[in-house]
Amino acid sequence: MMKIGEFEIYLKVVDDHKCPHCGDELSRRPRRLWQKAVSFAVPLRHYNCQSCYHRFFAMSPRWKQMKRGERWLRVAATGVVWLAGIYIVFRVLFGVLYAIMS
Ligand SMILES: [Zn+2]
Repeated sequence: MMKIGEFEIYLKVVDDHKCPHCGDELSRRPRRLWQKAVSFAVPLRHYNCQSCYHRFFAMSPRWKQMKRGERWLRVAATGVVWLAGIYIVFRVLFGVLYAIMS
């Protein structure tokens, strides 16, 4: 288990929807779109315990069931999307710079 700031990160799958601190049922928080996008490539899930207010990240159980190839495919797909995004940002930035300089 790692600790980053107030967050604890468990590098294992937590027992299905049970808080590792108090053992209470965890309610899954509704995820925002960007969190879904992140969890597409990163096998971590954000949990929030309503009983002891414990907040932590743990491995997504879905990732354990996935085949190695599918995991790589997801990471690669996310990398491509990120690179494409960066490329577009730079293109726009240089376009603006070019327009200003000339
Ligand atoms: Zn708890």
